[in-house]
Amino acid sequence: MFNELTELLKNAYAPYSNFKVASIIEMKDGTLFKGVNVENASYGATICAERNAINNAIANGYHKGDFKSLYIVNSSEKIAFPCFICRQTISEFMEENDIVFLYNINGVEEKIKVKNIISNPFTSENL
Ligand SMILES: [Zn+2]
Repeated sequence: MFNELTELLKNAYAPYSNFKVASIIEMKDGTLFKGVNVENASYGATICAERNAINNAIANGYHKGDFKSLYIVNSSEKIAFPCFICRQTISEFMEENDIVFLYNINGVEEKIKVKNIISNPFTSENL
């Protein structure tokens, strides 16, 4: 998966931060959806790679409960965790024992369960 991620990383649009991110979401049926970060001169219009990938799955007809694993690479030598807006999206669609795989540009991997990056999430149960 790391090679696919680094190939995808070339599509990231990050002229402002130069911090490129690529993400692939794997569905339970094996289908993969891709996302990259897409920045904007109006910074608030930027979307992260993780949300891009997850939203792509939804746009293609998948539902909550169909998600399996999330893979993320960034263009730096450090492992980077999803931002908190992405964590909110992850908590909406993934289950607590699903795995998030994080890579730096050199392929160093860190695995973490969804429940360990999102403690006390705001969910539909709160509404
Ligand atoms: Zn994010």
